[in-house]
Amino acid sequence: MTMFENELKKGNFVISECGNCKTIVWPPSDYCNNCLSNVTWRKANPVGRLIEFSKKDEKIFGMIELEGKIRVIGKLKINLSNIKEGQCVILHSCDYDKGPQFTFVSCNGHY
Ligand SMILES: [Zn+2]
Repeated sequence: MTMFENELKKGNFVISECGNCKTIVWPPSDYCNNCLSNVTWRKANPVGRLIEFSKKDEKIFGMIELEGKIRVIGKLKINLSNIKEGQCVILHSCDYDKGPQFTFVSCNGHY
């Protein structure tokens, strides 16, 4: 497993940032895709913006943008009638099981 996957399993969403040019390297990698320097790992800012969402069975999934650059697909624990595209969401939990798993809740506490 990679550093990224291991940390997800522990509940930490970490991202790689270049030690040299300070670019966020996404998808996560040990090397900067801009200047090939080694990256450092840090926790991602958990507050993001909901780009779009869709409902599948009884679950709601959304694409969330974090740090103005990173886009992930996550489960939304928000009542469908309260969801708005562009709204603020916050990372609630994460895991790794055959792929990254993210769950987001609303920033304003409306579920
Ligand atoms: Zn770099």
